[in-house]
Amino acid sequence: IITVNDLRKVFPAPRGSGGEDVVAVDGVSFELRADECLAIVGESGSGKTTVARMIVGLETVTSGAVTVLGADRTAAPRSLAARRERAREVQYVFQDPYSSLNGRQRIGEVIMSNLRLHAKAAGARPATGTVTQRAQGILDSVGLPQRFFDRYPKELSGGQRQRVAIARALAADPKAIVLDEAVAALDVSIQAQILNLLADIKAERQVSYLFISHDLAVVNQISDRMVVMENGVIVDQGATAELLARPTHPYTRSLRAAVP
Ligand code: ATP
Repeated sequence: IITVNDLRKVFPAPRGSGGEDVVAVDGVSFELRADECLAIVGESGSGKTTVARMIVGLETVTSGAVTVLGADRTAAPRSLAARRERAREVQYVFQDPYSSLNGRQRIGEVIMSNLRLHAKAAGARPATGTVTQRAQGILDSVGLPQRFFDRYPKELSGGQRQRVAIARALAADPKAIVLDEAVAALDVSIQAQILNLLADIKAERQVSYLFISHDLAVVNQISDRMVVMENGVIVDQGATAELLARPTHPYTRSLRAAVP
């Protein structure tokens, strides 16, 4: 679904600061396969978020390539239709959905606007029902029944807001969802609920997850494979269960040892 090849990101030092450029990502390559959950793990500052932001086009690429379903995503889109399709295919769910939800938009409207925005691109699939009915259906599928439709983000708990962010992503009918520390801010019991929800969604539709996290317990629960990043490079990768059971690389071992 997504291929990342020799990806590099250098943040130039601010002009006149006399500081050094920051090499945030330094030659990262991996593949997100169909219907899998691939985790990117690593300590704070290892470059995980920068990789994610380059994949979804929120950050420019210094060098290397991002390919989604065989199409180059590093160059600027050629048409409005291509731009729309690109925005739809890979959705991004942030750590704190509050920052990405418009506080003045009711929950139902959040979902309906994404449905409308992506209706054309997703038009290949027969859409049944009105936009309102479809939005209600999606909210229902993430465990937010009808009474939430007219509420505002501030009237929701953190876990409920994260459900809205997931529902908004699903409204685009994406091929992949990038989840950046999507459960990190939640209580352990709410974390488990969201992880179960993500597993249910994946069992029901064809969607891949790129799951960014520093939490190996969470990664162990949800991911099929993982890549381990340290200082902008991948130092280890493989099947999650295998890597966690028998970590060979010293860095993976040290991460593993830090988990109770
Ligand atoms: P965290 O888990 O704390 O979010 P991370 O692994 O996602 O960490 P990144 O946020 O990708 O790491 O950061 C990688 C490196 O790039 C860090 O050294 C960070 O300071 C630097 N960096 C990130 N964004 C910028 C920016 N806009 N300008 C300059 N440096 C940046």
